[in-house]
Amino acid sequence: MAEYAYARIPSEGEKITVVDRKPQVPDRPIVPFIEGDGIGPDIWRATRRVVDAAVEKAYEGRKKISWMEIYAGEKAHEMSGEWLPQETLDALSEFKVGIKGPLTTPVGGGIRSLNVTLRKVLDLYSCVRPVRWIPGVPSPVKAPEKLDVVIYRENTEDVYADIEWASGTPEVETLRTFLNEGLNASIREGSGIGIKPISAFGTKRHVAAAIRYALERGRSSVTLVHKGNIMKYTEGAFRDWGYEVAKEQFGDVTVTEAEVWEGASTEGKILVKDRIADAMFQQVLLRPDEYDVVVTPNLDGDFLSDACAAQVGGLGMAPGANIGDEVAVFEATHGTAPKYTGQNKVNPGSLILSAVMMLEYMGWNEAAGRIVRGLEGAVAAKTVTYDLERQMEGATKVSTSEFAEAVVGHM
Ligand code: NAP
Repeated sequence: MAEYAYARIPSEGEKITVVDRKPQVPDRPIVPFIEGDGIGPDIWRATRRVVDAAVEKAYEGRKKISWMEIYAGEKAHEMSGEWLPQETLDALSEFKVGIKGPLTTPVGGGIRSLNVTLRKVLDLYSCVRPVRWIPGVPSPVKAPEKLDVVIYRENTEDVYADIEWASGTPEVETLRTFLNEGLNASIREGSGIGIKPISAFGTKRHVAAAIRYALERGRSSVTLVHKGNIMKYTEGAFRDWGYEVAKEQFGDVTVTEAEVWEGASTEGKILVKDRIADAMFQQVLLRPDEYDVVVTPNLDGDFLSDACAAQVGGLGMAPGANIGDEVAVFEATHGTAPKYTGQNKVNPGSLILSAVMMLEYMGWNEAAGRIVRGLEGAVAAKTVTYDLERQMEGATKVSTSEFAEAVVGHM
């Protein structure tokens, strides 16, 4: 194992390895964690307590996680003068599966978001966000239980690829001249310009990951969401490449909606369909139960995942993961909520459910199931943190750590 200047490798435990994108998990895996800034330490403490208890209950000592703290954000900066030390990236590459709390994006000085850097450097090309209702959580819709989707959002391309220039800069003028004079475009003076690259390579590996997920988890459909009616060569190509990869790599286990219209059966197959992004926002409200795994380019997925999470009342409880071929990092989807730092007050649900995703990814389904049961039990008993308590009638408000105990109590 590599040597680290700040992180300590636990004395017991082994590395997770990855073969053909599948994690091979020993009974005592070393799992690196980043506590995170702001409320990070509070929600991490609660999450670790819940995960350790679930693993113990599920496997009675036969399996156990060896946690290894690695550093990013303010804690890393205090120790090393760097916000994201190289060794943190090295540790995630070496140990393959990690979990993190939220990180402050340092303001100014041209410092890039730490989260974006992690995704880019480790090539975590799919952002995965399961969205389903936990009974009892207040929701703005009539039938929140009908939505149960897993959103696969492409993480490395599209208008988020960080290729843009400000209005009035020499770069933008060079580009404007090139496009207007060379390629017959008509971009106005004073424009800022951003580039939207979407590639066959980036799309196909991402859609393939979503289809593999659907197959492994027994999901019934994969929907390609895009704005291809307007942006033909980026979003439209995303749709076309998506269908192509379904046919090329999963032809025997998938069937398209068009084929079904012509009489093909969906029996034992995953239905592959596509929807235009704006229509999809209506669909998840009006016919949520027709969707299952949803796969999108970067920008569409960003909007759609928050809209879906809001629909089940769960922005504060929405889990997430960034997954590549080798490395997977599981994380809370909310930020550092700095005004609540150190108050043991906020809801740890998002990070706890991210840990559930991590355990499922590791194949530790029994422990994952116990956490879900515990969380559902705590919410059903209306033992909840302030954010849910203020919207629920007759609820008992508990602290972050008390909520963790309630989850453990209901496992
Ligand atoms: P935020 O930290 O998500 O907080 C916004 C509000 O959401 C909070 O004031 C709180 O609402 C509620 N909230 C968030 N997490 C909660 C929890 N666990 N339990 C209960 N309520 C919760 O968003 P922000 O204030 O825009 O961002 C703060 C910092 O976080 C920024 O530096 C940003 O860059 C960073 N950030 C990091 C990540 C990440 O690391 N993945 C993601 C997003 C933002 P009430 O005030 O109504 O109680």
